[in-house]
Amino acid sequence: MNPTLEQVTPFKTTKNLPNHPTFNGFAFTLEAQQGQARAGSFQTPHGIVQTPVFMPVGTHSTVKSLTWEQVAETNAQIVLSNSYHLYLRPGHKLVEKAGGLHHWMNWHKPILTDSGGFQVFSLAKFRKITEAGVHFQDTISGNRHFIGPEESMEIQNSLGPDVMMAFDECPPYPATYEYALQSLERTQRWLERCFKAHNRPHDQALFPIVQGSTYQDLRTKAVKLVTEFDAVGYAIGGVSVGEPRPMIHKMTRYTAPLLPANKPRYLMGVGTLEDLLQGIRSGVDMFDCVLPTRNGRHGTFLTPTGNRNIKNSAFREDFSPLVEGCDCHTCNHHSRAYLRHLFTQKEDAGRTLISLHNVRMLVKLSEEAREAILAGTFDDFYAERMTALGYADTIEIPQEEG
Ligand SMILES: [Zn+2]
Repeated sequence: MNPTLEQVTPFKTTKNLPNHPTFNGFAFTLEAQQGQARAGSFQTPHGIVQTPVFMPVGTHSTVKSLTWEQVAETNAQIVLSNSYHLYLRPGHKLVEKAGGLHHWMNWHKPILTDSGGFQVFSLAKFRKITEAGVHFQDTISGNRHFIGPEESMEIQNSLGPDVMMAFDECPPYPATYEYALQSLERTQRWLERCFKAHNRPHDQALFPIVQGSTYQDLRTKAVKLVTEFDAVGYAIGGVSVGEPRPMIHKMTRYTAPLLPANKPRYLMGVGTLEDLLQGIRSGVDMFDCVLPTRNGRHGTFLTPTGNRNIKNSAFREDFSPLVEGCDCHTCNHHSRAYLRHLFTQKEDAGRTLISLHNVRMLVKLSEEAREAILAGTFDDFYAERMTALGYADTIEIPQEEG
C-alpha cells in the first residue's frame, strides 16, 4: 500500500529550537570490524551518523533535481555542500544571516562542507598558488578572489556545517614526486593555520586531508603529519583525480588502515556502487559523490548489475520498476516505460525520479554493508555484490604489507 502524505515522515522546521541542546561533543564509536571493514556511529551536533555512510552532494546548497523532503526520503543521514560555490553565490555571509546552512536549506541533519580548495584548483581560471593561499578568477562573473586557510575557515564557520574540511592543495594526476612532496608540505603548513583560525571547534569538526598523490611513502608521510593534530576525523583526498581506477582502490587500501582506528575516515569524491564496496572493504567510513544525481539527470540509473540508460528503446514497453525489489519512491510507483517516456519528452520529473532512485541505491548499499559488518557476513556480501556488478575477477584483494 502506498503511504499517504501524513504517513510519510513529516519534514519539520526546527528553526525555533535551541541549537542542538543534547550534543555533548563529537564522538566516534567503532561498533564492529570485519577485516578492515568497519561499522560505527559518529556523533555530531545534528545527530548520530551510522557508518559506513554515503553522503549525497548538494553543491549549490541543493541536491540537484531533488527537494529536501525527497533527499530525506532516501534515508540520507548527512549531506555535503561546497564552500567554493556558496562563497561565490549567494555568499557565506548571507547564509550566515539565514542562520547557517541547516536553516538556509531547512535540512536539520548533519552537513559536511569541503574547504573550497579542490574547486579553486579544478574550476577556477588564472589560479595562482602562493604560500598565503590561492588567487583565482570566478569563471562566471570574471571577478578575482583569494582563498587561503584563514578565509576557508571563515567561510565554513559562517556556513556552520557539522564537519568542515581543511584547506589543502589537491595535486592533479599525474604529479611528479617532487611536486607532490612540496605540495604536501605546504598543505601541512596550511593545516596548522586552519586549526588556528577555526573559531567553532566546540560544534564544528575540522577534518585534515591526507594527500600524497599516488606515492605510497608520501601517503604514509601525510598520515604522520595530519595525525599530529588530534582531529575528530580524517579524510583521504587526491584520489579520483584522473588516475586509472585500480590506482584509486590501491591508494585507498594502502592509506585507510594507516589512519587512527578510533576516528571516522572519509574518502573524498568517490562513490559508485563498486567504489563504495571497495572503500568499505578498505576501512573507509564516509563517502560522497555527485555521480548519482549527475547520472540521473542524463537518464542513467544504477542497478545491482551495473548502470543502464532509461532512454534505451528496450525499455519502451517495459512495465517493471528500474530495479525489482528496490524500496525507493520511484521503483514503488513507476515503470521503466513511463520513466523512458518522461526522458524522451525531456520532462523534469524524469530526472528527479531517476536521481531519487540513484541516491537511494547508494544509501541502501551503505546500510546493507553496515548490517553485513555487524552480522559478520561482510566478506560474502562483498563477493556477491562485486560479482553481480561484473567484478568477479577483481574480488580478491591482496593483503598489503605493514
Ligand atoms: Zn529504486
